[in-house]
Amino acid sequence: MSTILDRVFAKDPFEKEFHQAVTEVVRSVKPVLDKNPEYRHANILGRMIEPERVIQFRVPWVDDHGQIKVNRGFRIEMNSAIGPYKGGLRFHSSVNLSILKFLAFEQTFKNALTTLPLGAGKGGADFDPKGKSDNEVMRFCQSFMCELFRHLGPDTDIPAGDIGVGAREIGYLFGMYKKLKNEFSGVLTGKGLNWGGSLIRPEATGYGTVFFAEEMLAIRRESLKDKVCLVSASGNVAQYTIEKLNQLGAKVITISDSSGYIYDEKGIDEAKLQYVIYLKNGKRGRIREYADKYPEAVYTEFNGSLDHNPLWNHKADCAFPSATQNEINAKDAQNMINNGVYVVSEGANMPTMPEGVEIFLDNKILYAPGKAANAGGVAVSGLEMSQNSMRIKWTREEVEAKLKGIMQSIHAACLSASEEYGTPGNYVNGANIAGFVKVADSMMDQGIV
Ligand code: NDP
Repeated sequence: MSTILDRVFAKDPFEKEFHQAVTEVVRSVKPVLDKNPEYRHANILGRMIEPERVIQFRVPWVDDHGQIKVNRGFRIEMNSAIGPYKGGLRFHSSVNLSILKFLAFEQTFKNALTTLPLGAGKGGADFDPKGKSDNEVMRFCQSFMCELFRHLGPDTDIPAGDIGVGAREIGYLFGMYKKLKNEFSGVLTGKGLNWGGSLIRPEATGYGTVFFAEEMLAIRRESLKDKVCLVSASGNVAQYTIEKLNQLGAKVITISDSSGYIYDEKGIDEAKLQYVIYLKNGKRGRIREYADKYPEAVYTEFNGSLDHNPLWNHKADCAFPSATQNEINAKDAQNMINNGVYVVSEGANMPTMPEGVEIFLDNKILYAPGKAANAGGVAVSGLEMSQNSMRIKWTREEVEAKLKGIMQSIHAACLSASEEYGTPGNYVNGANIAGFVKVADSMMDQGIV
């Protein structure tokens, strides 16, 4: 087992996020390989770790002052054993090969869990739309698509959004794809409702994360009603996590962006959430402005010299990390436990560092890793693809019911795999094993390709 990890570390020594994601999966699936030597014989894990294809390209564009800029674009086509490559595009200054490979690797298991025929991919660029004009973002997206289009197709590779890629960016990307291919096809998901998008796609990841928490609590015969919740970030996932938590009678007391966080003891109710949505999606402002509008709230600027994130250090029952990878370290995890948090449902991908995960597991809280808890986004992307292919549109109620059913079946699959392999209630092992087995069996069926 360690030889696989040794090989990954030696081949790409600087890809620390990728190492982190692979290490967790390798540890979880060891008992599966021990029980099924044919997987080892076929080197399934070794093959899963190697992307089927990595595309890297130059993205030149002109800013509003006539300056010529250049960014780096990527697409990782990770695994197509169970369907066409599917996964988001991230535009953020931190984007590099390691981050995209970790995300694409996680996507392999996540997409398998959705029960839909979706392979895995991920992509993006080290371009940050923050502070750019609409025209600059449009020119960047057009240049990005001028290269990426040749690798995409509704049966080949279908990207969606992620950090920094929302409805605006998907629109510009789709416009250029359509022009270049002279074809109107469902090649991106997260599209506008007027031109092929699905109802509930914007809400799907956040809602799904809450549905997953509901399922975990149901095992203890509890619900989210009156639960006090911590949410990080204020982007797409955070917004709809808060919306669903409010609908279910919970109270959310925190929200953040990369500069700082808000603590609102009275709770971020529906009216305040509508202000956040206007602030972040319309005005494209900063979360500190929330405290100007609602003086009862306290804004704290993040201080890079602290060894913990103060957002996670408040009395609460549940936490929904919704920002980015590694936003919860061991100290944060311990602070959460000390403050009474016993449900963690990850909207973000890999937000908890391995030492933090250990603390959650040792304390036997209800802990759902992102690849299970946030699979609702890609699941509704899959439903958007189905609607596009069938040239139909399902109602809001239909899509939400399907989303809820998918989250329930992911929860059941994780729980049953965790029980089968002797770690009942360990959703980390459960998600890794259930996702792995489905992809592994498909790869076995398809031979050495
Ligand atoms: P958005 O771009 O809509 O929002 C991102 C939010 O996270 C912003 O509030 C941003 O703050 C904050 N953030 C980003 N980087 C950091 C950082 N380094 N430190 C602190 N805060 C940060 O992205 P999404 O809501 O779509 O994505 C959030 C997470 O959810 C990501 O991990 C993504 O991979 C995951 N996810 C998203 C899915 C989707 O459907 N959108 C599906 C599954 C998972 P600021 O504005 O200051 O940058």
